[in-house]
Amino acid sequence: MAPSGSRNVDCWRVLYWIPVLFISLIVAWSYYAYVVQLCIDTIENMGEKIVYLLVYHVLFIMFVWSYWQTIFTKPMNPLKEFHLSHSDKELLEREDRRESQQEILRRIAKDLPIYTRTMSGAIRYCDHCLLLKPDRCHHCSACDMCILKMDHHCPWVNNCVGFANYKFFMLFLAYSLLYCLFVTATDLQYFIQFWTNGLPDTQAKFQIMFLFFAASMFSVSLAFLFAYHCWLVCKNRSTLEAFRAPTFQHGPDKDGFSLGTSKNFRQVFGNEKKCWLLPVFSSLGDGCSYPTCLVNADPEQPSSPSGRNPSIKSAGESHQFPPKPLRESQSRLLNNGQSEGNEDRDKRGTSNPALTIEKET
Ligand SMILES: [Zn+2]
Ligand SMILES: [Zn+2]
Repeated sequence: MAPSGSRNVDCWRVLYWIPVLFISLIVAWSYYAYVVQLCIDTIENMGEKIVYLLVYHVLFIMFVWSYWQTIFTKPMNPLKEFHLSHSDKELLEREDRRESQQEILRRIAKDLPIYTRTMSGAIRYCDHCLLLKPDRCHHCSACDMCILKMDHHCPWVNNCVGFANYKFFMLFLAYSLLYCLFVTATDLQYFIQFWTNGLPDTQAKFQIMFLFFAASMFSVSLAFLFAYHCWLVCKNRSTLEAFRAPTFQHGPDKDGFSLGTSKNFRQVFGNEKKCWLLPVFSSLGDGCSYPTCLVNADPEQPSSPSGRNPSIKSAGESHQFPPKPLRESQSRLLNNGQSEGNEDRDKRGTSNPALTIEKET
């Protein structure tokens, strides 16, 4: 039998669905008001009616599909290599001193592609999930787990927006904005007729008026939110990183993960153009490691005589980053989306694409 504490938590979790239910009810009402009251009952011109219904249903399906995906795509767990082994957990528990614990964590982090630190330069560790936080990963107290490339916890979808569903969230914003703009634009002339007594005196006229108010108000707020997230995608920042820049070896750097607008866009939307507008997963990478122009990632291929990337500014000497192997997912991203094993690069004797990348302006 489940303990009563966990039953209480489950009861509370049901309440988290209220905002989703609220949105769903508004969408269902807008469907009825637009399709039945406006298109079928009010619009008389057959051509106009068909075109409106056709475009409306395309937008409606894409909007509901992307909303569904944002809600029900479960956050991915960090790869198991980021979790502490049983022996490491015991070792960590035995140590009381923070410095000794950090020593253990630094030893484990040595073999992982982790480049960010806490503000104080310590290894980022989650003592709830017992794992070393991958870059851009944060613990969400609402979801009670570590979320890869966490953007924010969104009550309107009752889910965390992060690596697994960020593309869906962007499409959800885009399609909901288009949906509201389309409804506002096509409802406008009937809204004017409402005030000039041009509409027949039925209950449909009030639905048409409320529909215009609701759609135009949502359009304004969605436009701001969508524009802000487009800017974040172009800059390769999450909402959390926009408020607090990720801390690297040389200190905080808000552009630490930026590879240039085009590559930043493809990191979220993928290389396949035909997938960009569809709410199917096509983001690049594994969510745990991210290419950065700040770190020389290949120990075999030093880019400067000292073996350090010249772009690295004054490093925090007490927390030197060991060189890390570059993952396949990172290589692909840095590789401009072309196939692995670029012959040109091999001829130059540089196997690590991180060394040849140039930041786009
Ligand atoms: Zn956690
Ligand atoms: Zn969350």
